[in-house]
Amino acid sequence: MTVYNPQSLNADEFINDAEICDTLRYADENKDNLELIDAIIAKAKLRKGIDHREASVLLACENPEKLREIYVLAEQIKKDFYGDRIVMFAPLYLSNYCVNGCVYCPYHYKNKHICRKKLTQEEVRAEVIALQDMGHKRLAIEAGEDPVHNPIEYILECIDTIYSIKHKNGAIRRVNVNIAATTVENYRKLRDAGIGTYILFQETYNKESYEALHPTGPKHNYRYHTEAMDRAMEGGIDDVGLGVLFGLELYRYELAGILMHAEHLEAVHGVGPHTISVPRVKPADDIDPDDFDGGIDDETFCKIIAIIRIAVPYTGMIISTRENKSVREKALRLGISQISGGSKTSVGGYVEPEEENSAQFDVSDQRTLDEVVCWLMELGYIPSFCTACYREGRTGDRFMALCKSGQIQNCCHPNALMTLEEYLVDYASPKTRAVGEKIIEKELQNIPKEKVRKIAEEHIEDIKNNNKRDFRF
Ligand code: SAM
Repeated sequence: MTVYNPQSLNADEFINDAEICDTLRYADENKDNLELIDAIIAKAKLRKGIDHREASVLLACENPEKLREIYVLAEQIKKDFYGDRIVMFAPLYLSNYCVNGCVYCPYHYKNKHICRKKLTQEEVRAEVIALQDMGHKRLAIEAGEDPVHNPIEYILECIDTIYSIKHKNGAIRRVNVNIAATTVENYRKLRDAGIGTYILFQETYNKESYEALHPTGPKHNYRYHTEAMDRAMEGGIDDVGLGVLFGLELYRYELAGILMHAEHLEAVHGVGPHTISVPRVKPADDIDPDDFDGGIDDETFCKIIAIIRIAVPYTGMIISTRENKSVREKALRLGISQISGGSKTSVGGYVEPEEENSAQFDVSDQRTLDEVVCWLMELGYIPSFCTACYREGRTGDRFMALCKSGQIQNCCHPNALMTLEEYLVDYASPKTRAVGEKIIEKELQNIPKEKVRKIAEEHIEDIKNNNKRDFRF
């Protein structure tokens, strides 16, 4: 039997099944232990996080009063750490060729009737121009796993193409990468290509289910997949993004697992995950989410988000257009700091109308980016197109240091306002622009340092009147 050890580099030890089962038992035994629950909430109020055991107790707790306290705290932590800023991004699907047999994904190799497609560099250009014309500055590139069709050289070429395109005032300034687990050498190449975050969803932390859900192909190898973030960090990638695909397995198992993964990264590399994503399985071509046992309702989904928020306050949280407008609204309040908008989940979908059943999953939020931006501002948020941190070398522990220094309001806040101004001037509808200009005027006053405020005001004038772009602190 393997023993739990967060510092181990063996996935069976840092995501230890016996430890998770014991944690879930402990959580069940203590779900009505109000004294313990109060102590955990009090610890969470210190804003230094709670561990997987403590979080699991809160997840098991059903006491309405305590749940309210948890939600209030999650909202407060969200506000304290992220203010009203919401970072915007879009996925870009490069290729749906895939050799894996993932049973929840329509790109699995046995699916013979979906049209397989891999973007040429010309098509990448066209997609990126379409994304720039919407106003996007930050992409997450996505591809199936296929060493012949989508080797690392292809991904690197696409990244190069994406960064090189300067169309009108557009530019993609940060490319995050969501591709299959790979080698240290390949992670080094991705680092050298200037990627932002390397994102890889664990799908499920339950090894037995993982192996059953990935019956064939390289992704079947649980340890290789689960240890990928360690290899990515060894390859010099500072920012990694975790996620589980909720709906596949017992959500309580997954919450304990993902927090153990975060604790492991912190223990070994001295820095936790940059982001955590919370996708839920969606219908797709030959995929029916009801075929899986772990489906969760919206209420449970929001509870998970609130608990992740208080467990890892410094980790950004991402929600995609898999979720509809009303779930996204609740999730934003409870902890989400990054959302996608105007997304297409098929290869070539930003230029060509999507063919039936070609998407990786159904998109629930089908609004345009402009509608999402306007909606966010009407809810009181500041949509941010900022990509400054990693371009200024503030990655990994240096980013965490910025969070912990309390200087976010003098740095991220003005950056958000300046990039929002760029969006308003270059891409927004008249209605969105009117809403946005008012917010910027008001929010400039919330920059604490007078000197920083003055500079931000000047830059915003330059964006509006002198066609200048890309200012950052
Ligand atoms: N192929 C890469 C890998 O092996 O990790 C990642 C790219 S894949 C395009 C991105 C993610 O989409 C997967 O990690 C999975 O969690 C998610 N996904 C797959 N099928 C889905 C479905 N039916 N509904 C929602 N999300 C899905």
